[in-house]
Amino acid sequence: MPLAAIDTTPGTDAVLYLPLGGTGEIGMNLNLYGHDGYWLIVDIGITFGGDAFPEHDVLMADPAFIVSRRQRLAGIVLTHAHEDHVGAIAYLWKRLKCPVYATPFTAAVARFKLTRAGLEDVPLHELPLGGRVEVGPFGVEYIAMTHSIPEPNAVLLTTSAGAVLHTGDWKLDDRPVVGGRYDMQRLRALRREPLLAMVCDSTNAVVPGSTGSEGELFEPLREVVETAGGRVIVTAFASNIARLVTLARVAAATERHFGVIGQAMQRMVAVARATGYWPADLPELVDARHLGYLPPEEVLAACTGSQGEPGSALDRMAADSHRDILLDAGDTVVFSSKLIPGNERPVAAVQARLRALGVELITDADAHVHVSGHPAADDLKRLYDWVQPPAVVPTHGTPRHLRANADIALGCHVPRVAVIGNGDLCRLGGDGPRVLGQVPTGRLSLDADGRLVPVPAPVLAQMRRSVC
Ligand SMILES: [Zn+2]
Ligand SMILES: [Zn+2]
Repeated sequence: MPLAAIDTTPGTDAVLYLPLGGTGEIGMNLNLYGHDGYWLIVDIGITFGGDAFPEHDVLMADPAFIVSRRQRLAGIVLTHAHEDHVGAIAYLWKRLKCPVYATPFTAAVARFKLTRAGLEDVPLHELPLGGRVEVGPFGVEYIAMTHSIPEPNAVLLTTSAGAVLHTGDWKLDDRPVVGGRYDMQRLRALRREPLLAMVCDSTNAVVPGSTGSEGELFEPLREVVETAGGRVIVTAFASNIARLVTLARVAAATERHFGVIGQAMQRMVAVARATGYWPADLPELVDARHLGYLPPEEVLAACTGSQGEPGSALDRMAADSHRDILLDAGDTVVFSSKLIPGNERPVAAVQARLRALGVELITDADAHVHVSGHPAADDLKRLYDWVQPPAVVPTHGTPRHLRANADIALGCHVPRVAVIGNGDLCRLGGDGPRVLGQVPTGRLSLDADGRLVPVPAPVLAQMRRSVC
């Protein structure tokens, strides 16, 4: 049904769910929940155009629907600090102008982004882990999960019509290396609460079994480093503080000095220190400027650039043009990361240049040097079994991932499952999820002058076709 024919005003008898980004694709999450006349945004992320769309480097969901209803926007709730959940805050806040809520680590990352954009006065409310707050007609409760960044949270949205569990990104990690455990007790208690639906991460729903733990990587990484001759450079996601802590411990165990190369990674370590996630017992980090002067066999460094990003630390090292470190034959580069689909070409190019330098490469195909941060099939089953939701709406995945998650939910005897996409205005009521109609969606792109411009329709169509 077209938008004009449906009433988009949230009533008191149900909760409306409207994903504008991140459902039917991985990246640029932007979720809207509506109740009793008001809307709430959960997460506001970006994605990268990558190799396929280099002229659209930074992309985000077009928030036009909620911008035109800004007076009815109660706030923005952030689940965690990954770019696909928080990256658009500084770009879009000026259009939304509402309070923002986050736990301390996420708030620190969001504050950095806002300050850098000259937005020092944004009302950014910091909540403790497990904290609760009233935002308009919504009660918002943070529930601790585990993932691949400090402080991943699910949020329980409570209303007079019932509650919705928005899982955010999660896995069930019993040895997360940094931060606390997931709050199993609270999750298991949800089955006794008046839940309407669970909106759940689908990223790894096509992967059988259970996702491994960060804690299991120390030994394989130690083995890789111990058997390496020259420098060892490990590229990983900048925000994976647990991985960096593991590497710092591997450095200590193999009598190497540890340093971090790349601005984004250095910034994340600074945030981790400031928020208490960098353990005090780790050896002091060696400044990137000094790493190049140390004997190669005494160096272990982590760096940005695992996706072949142009200008990243690894890209510069591969081009033999890094300011601080030049690699030699016999050095080793470890890809402690997964290859995000779409980045095959730039990663292959970086790897070819490294090989030409005589550098040995190790990826997750050669050794157990990476674990995902998302739930595989058995993890999804465990959470469905604990929560026993009356309905599941899969999100955070391409249509293939959403369908796989839906099948798992049905297999767990979840009575109602709705596979929807961006722009589907979905009513979550006592009688299950029901799509009321479609809201226009689009994408905004950052142009060369830093302005946000709509992605032209033909390019948008091309982008949507590229999602499998
Ligand atoms: Zn995500
Ligand atoms: Zn995430």
